[in-house]
Amino acid sequence: MNIGAVDIGGTKMAAGVVDERGQVLVWRSMPTDANSLVENAVEQIAGMLRDSLAEACPEGGALDGIGIGCTGPVYRALGTLGYVEFMPGWEGAHITAMLTEITGAEAFIENDADAAALGEWAWGKGRGTQNFMLVTVGTGIGVGLVLNGQLYRGVDGAHPEIGHHFVDPNGPLCFCGGHGCWEVMASGPAMERWAQANHPQGLYRTAQQLCDAAREGEPLAEGAVDRTARYLGIGFANLVTLYTPEMIAVGGGLVQAWELFWPTVERTVQTTCGLVPYERVMITPASMGAQTGLVGAAQVWISRSIEKLS
Ligand SMILES: [Zn+2]
Repeated sequence: MNIGAVDIGGTKMAAGVVDERGQVLVWRSMPTDANSLVENAVEQIAGMLRDSLAEACPEGGALDGIGIGCTGPVYRALGTLGYVEFMPGWEGAHITAMLTEITGAEAFIENDADAAALGEWAWGKGRGTQNFMLVTVGTGIGVGLVLNGQLYRGVDGAHPEIGHHFVDPNGPLCFCGGHGCWEVMASGPAMERWAQANHPQGLYRTAQQLCDAAREGEPLAEGAVDRTARYLGIGFANLVTLYTPEMIAVGGGLVQAWELFWPTVERTVQTTCGLVPYERVMITPASMGAQTGLVGAAQVWISRSIEKLS
């Protein structure tokens, strides 16, 4: 099976061909140019799909369908994009219909955090669970939630923004309108902002540099990691108390340094989730790594095709 997979983020777009076992066969990527027309972006995506298919099937073949994971709110039933702060001109674009018109293949769309959760649940660590969450901690915090074996969606199919629940009402203002959201307190940029504000001459500019320096015992970097770990811990403890899933998988850039954060996260869960069987909730690094977006997008097409049949 040749499933077209498309991952649209604020800085990068990727597209490729994934098989029915969740293996990415061929893929390509290019920077997202949110200032250009959405029609151009769709042409570029269709081109990447066409080239990937030609490479995956040198003797010729067709795409069985296309799954799309896209950042921000999406109207999954209509196949249109919602408002995203950094791609305002793309709002309302009927991206599934546009891709189908060019490629001839049926297309479905989900929010990228939901797509990633579907991929990790079907083909990664979450396989076999009924209640599963994927938390992606990178430049933001995205969460997708599978409840009773189905992707959870809110009213009108909305994607709940669990990365924007408050962990500190006295924290800084977030673009969502809230103060001290999980994302604004515990993401990579949050750690960088704190380090810069507390040590403007500091040598460590990126979250990864801070993690490396913390491993070597540099006090400022240790402080930044400790603070981030505390807020991560509060968020994870909230998820354990609210949902008590079988598993919470953790993906994104920060998972490279998970051993720095995990002791505090574990302690926070153990000391604050006393009313639920927290010891049965497995919190573990995700398995998909850099391919999460494309694998998840392929699973979007599979799961939506199954929904359509039932
Ligand atoms: Zn927020």
